[in-house]
Amino acid sequence: MVKAVRVRFAPSPTGDLHVGNIRTALFDWAYARHTGGTFIFRIEDTDTTRVTDEYIAAAIDTLRWLGLQWDEGPEVGGEYGPYLQSQRLDIYAHWAQKFIEQKDAYYCFCTSEELEARREAQKAANVAPGYDGQCRDLSEEQIAAFRSEGRQAVVRMRMPDGETTFVDQIRGEISFDHKFVPDFVLARGDGSPLYTLAVAVDDISMKVTHVLRGEDLLSSTPRQIRVYQAMGVKEEDYPTFAHLPFVMGQDNAKLSKRNGEVSIAWYRDKGFLPEAICNYLALLGWSPGDDVENITMKQLTELFTVERVNSSPARFDMKKLEAINGDKIRALTLDEFLERSLPFLKSAKVIAGSQDEIALVNSALPIIQERITRLDEVPAMLKFLFTKSFAVEEASLSKVSDAASKDVLRRSLTELEGIEEWTHDSIEAALRSSLIEELGLKPRIAFGSVRIAVTGSTISPPLFESMELLGKTVCLERISSALAL
Ligand code: GLU
Repeated sequence: MVKAVRVRFAPSPTGDLHVGNIRTALFDWAYARHTGGTFIFRIEDTDTTRVTDEYIAAAIDTLRWLGLQWDEGPEVGGEYGPYLQSQRLDIYAHWAQKFIEQKDAYYCFCTSEELEARREAQKAANVAPGYDGQCRDLSEEQIAAFRSEGRQAVVRMRMPDGETTFVDQIRGEISFDHKFVPDFVLARGDGSPLYTLAVAVDDISMKVTHVLRGEDLLSSTPRQIRVYQAMGVKEEDYPTFAHLPFVMGQDNAKLSKRNGEVSIAWYRDKGFLPEAICNYLALLGWSPGDDVENITMKQLTELFTVERVNSSPARFDMKKLEAINGDKIRALTLDEFLERSLPFLKSAKVIAGSQDEIALVNSALPIIQERITRLDEVPAMLKFLFTKSFAVEEASLSKVSDAASKDVLRRSLTELEGIEEWTHDSIEAALRSSLIEELGLKPRIAFGSVRIAVTGSTISPPLFESMELLGKTVCLERISSALAL
């Protein structure tokens, strides 16, 4: 019988989720949706020194914002909860104790100073570093003696000689020689679990069938498999592993703040759409084939297979993300575009949010939809419609103040005053005949000065449409005040 797919995204929120985490979450989600399986969201928060409640809340928020809805996890619950590891400590303690009893694990009393000194010695002797097995076979008396000294013991897993081999769905068969997988710690002196114990116990107890995660975790796999063995899990019940390729920065260096790796919240604040982020991240290591790059979330779930995931590193490309974001903005309906733009206009204090303002924004949005790649460009584009105390931007001042520009503006003023019906067509006709045909000016020069005079900037939506929206009185006032500069 084929088991129903259960796949989990299990971040340790020690900071805001970033591009790498979300690429993993997206692939987990897409795989679950493609197979009709269950998407589990588990928070790995056992490292209480680094995980905070704020980061956990932010992680939940980010996944929701991206539309990666989970079937089991925080706020949703599920049959195998709780889904925060900090609420499952008794489960890990139970297994650690059981492993001790089974002699799969042992108490280790070595202090960090002792371990450090021996690591130095290993280095000097050119021996592979790692735990040397000192406490592997302590007698009851030795254990009691250490305890009476007041020493705390960690629980350490015994790694037998041999090797671990498993088939990775992306990388094929992989073997780890245990010479390079020394005995490892499962629980700290205070009883708290380490990642390897918690992750393995949870994947088994939550009946996870597929572990799709970043390549950085590949080397932890033999340790997790060792935990499964100690739990008495049959090999056919191990999850299937698939390690996703690294995401590199544009310069082929490890992804960092400098070359793209910033929190998803940063992208949200910059006006990237969640569907654009998901679309773009889906292409990092996976492709739908046929050079297709623009896909919807629905298509992603239809097309996503692990077979199409590449094993070589993917490269993050901000330009491509921006291009996709522009496409997604153009694909929005006017209502959606309005709804998504309003928070940006409000936070930039371009509008307060009155009905009149929103109506004006609504009429202006169609003329900028083709021209922006991020929503945070909207305030700068539409600011001219709402500024009460109008000022020409510093950098553009020279383009309205020289003698030639003043001629253009004076001439425009006379022409525009004569317009009866103020539409973008009539404005264009008037300015073309007077400035281009009669004065013989180049459009860029002629309209450039008018643009700066009425919008205050060289960057603005199409000129004649903007002027129509502004209305005749305001346009004439602004041209007159530019003339007075
Ligand atoms: N919690 C681990 C991390 O954030 C990932 C666990 C896993 O996917 O196995 O690095």
